[in-house]
Amino acid sequence: MIYKLIIIIILIFSISGCKETPRKENITLKKDTANQTSDRISAKDSLRNVKQTEIPNGVITRLPTDEKVVALTFDACETRTPAYFDEGILSFLLKEKIPFTVFVSGKFATRNKDRLIELSKLEFVEIENHSLNHYQNMERLSKGQTEKEVTENEKLIFDITKSKTKFFRFPGGNYNQAGLESVESLGYKVVHWDVASGDPDKRVSAGRLIKWVLYNVKPGSIIIFHINGRGYKTADALSVIVDSLRNQGFRFVKLDEEI
Ligand SMILES: [Zn+2]
Repeated sequence: MIYKLIIIIILIFSISGCKETPRKENITLKKDTANQTSDRISAKDSLRNVKQTEIPNGVITRLPTDEKVVALTFDACETRTPAYFDEGILSFLLKEKIPFTVFVSGKFATRNKDRLIELSKLEFVEIENHSLNHYQNMERLSKGQTEKEVTENEKLIFDITKSKTKFFRFPGGNYNQAGLESVESLGYKVVHWDVASGDPDKRVSAGRLIKWVLYNVKPGSIIIFHINGRGYKTADALSVIVDSLRNQGFRFVKLDEEI
């Protein structure tokens, strides 16, 4: 019973790393959870019937493989207060040269321009699109507004990194079919996750984070963490998670190696 309660609490906070109002987080949770569940089911069904190279449209929550590979993805977004790269996480990933993906939003990109330039020169780092303004509910935007959120952030990131982004992640994981189609019509693949680490919850200890991620990870998992200062225990937990997964035979990949 207590275990179930802890799981529910972690789920509540796992999708709200870029937000600061707990009340609102609870409101958006129901929709997020519903979306993620249906995504997972549809992704599974789709993958069962297609070859690896024929990935259907729709939100991608797993890598289309049974191999022991995992994608470590990190959201880097800023809302009301200035946000910077979590140097504890970053130094570990860079030192170990672990492939990873960062989903960057507009304000964060502008504020962390120099760091992004450095990261863009590393072949094991992938910098992707997390919208210009990080609207928590992009499903409320018009087609034109949605496209602007994607293309203007794409341009901003391109000006910094000289690389075009090709994967998109909706803020808070919130989207609707029309928004999804708008983003895909721009040539993007929308990538969410199957393992929400729960790192934006201040009450979750590093130990709990480690156990939760290791318990849930599977071949092809896409794990979401936060590298914007709101993954409170991620820097402490990450090396243990990485070590354990390596010992189990997993290796780490960028999204574009598998999708
Ligand atoms: Zn975000």
